[in-house]
Amino acid sequence: MRTRTTCTAAVLAALLTVSLTACGQEARGGSRYKPPAGKGGTIGLAMPTKASERWVNDGRNMAEQFRKAGYKTDLQYGDDKVENQVAQIENMITKGRRLLVVAAIDGSALTGVLKRAHDAGIPVISYDRLILGTPYVDYYASFDNERVGELQATYIVDKLKLGKPDRNADDKHNIELFAGSPDDNNTKYFFNGAMKVLGPYLDSGQLVVRSKQTSMNQVTTLRWDGGTAQKRMDDLISKSYGDERVDAVLSPYDGISIGILSALKSAGYGSKSQPLPVVTGQDAELASVKSIIRGEQTQTVFKDTRKLAAQAVQMGDAVLNDKKPKVNNTEDYDNGKKTVPSYLLNPVSVDKSNTDLLVREGYFTAGQLK
Ligand code: BGC
Repeated sequence: MRTRTTCTAAVLAALLTVSLTACGQEARGGSRYKPPAGKGGTIGLAMPTKASERWVNDGRNMAEQFRKAGYKTDLQYGDDKVENQVAQIENMITKGRRLLVVAAIDGSALTGVLKRAHDAGIPVISYDRLILGTPYVDYYASFDNERVGELQATYIVDKLKLGKPDRNADDKHNIELFAGSPDDNNTKYFFNGAMKVLGPYLDSGQLVVRSKQTSMNQVTTLRWDGGTAQKRMDDLISKSYGDERVDAVLSPYDGISIGILSALKSAGYGSKSQPLPVVTGQDAELASVKSIIRGEQTQTVFKDTRKLAAQAVQMGDAVLNDKKPKVNNTEDYDNGKKTVPSYLLNPVSVDKSNTDLLVREGYFTAGQLK
């Protein structure tokens, strides 16, 4: 009994010291309150939208893997509305979540709420999309985003046989360009990666953008919306392709590719006499992989969300246990306030010839792809 009382007193004293230290630190406006290390507690997972399959998978994979690592999770989706996501993160802070993993809807809109997370001693991992303009991002887990754009563009170059010695020097191909949401930091990496590869062919005239819309701000697609992309493609076809055909479309994301393909099909593409152009994509979403197998969408970029979740979990678990997370890039991801230590995974190009990879890797079952 006496031992128990002494213990309880000791624990209370320790807790008091922690909270007094915390108050002292905040009062001085100095370093942040540091909660005790260890396993357990709840992790806040703030994901952007359920409208895209990949984010549903990301959330589910992280919830499973954090649970296996000894944590509970609070998984929230922002329905692609910035104010929802901010409110969800506020709520996670109020509920004392130990760590936040955030895939931002708008990378620049979280400065205020992440300051509050910092003041409450809650570390933050930026997931897939880099959060901008705040020093209160501890780590970043993503794929090599520039490489994604390079893979899409290289695919187009190879398919159209550009730069091949046996090609007819007068051969010109028409291409239209699409980019992702202007408020997503990944958008510029994808677009710049692609333009690095396409640029020389545009300069030499082997590739022609008939709409003349070639700068990123002319070709972005707010919130990555497939319907918005479909309207733009309708418009491009009717204004710039009277008696010319579209040979390739650079699309940064499967949902956008599906919209582009709908516009092309409505305009009569998809027959023997007027085949569909090369259309790229990203995420290996089920509808797009099936479209690739059917011979409609041509390519996608596979980014295994289970592996990305595993990186977020190793980072989070390390941070919560006073260990150093594994990173492989400490130079390239500057968010305007700091260079965020990052772990970048490799994206893989997938077309009709290697969709079986997705089955071998266990991403889909063979039955799902039928
Ligand atoms: C992700 C892509 C995804 C896109 C639309 C980007 O931030 O990196 O994988 O296709 O958002 O959801």
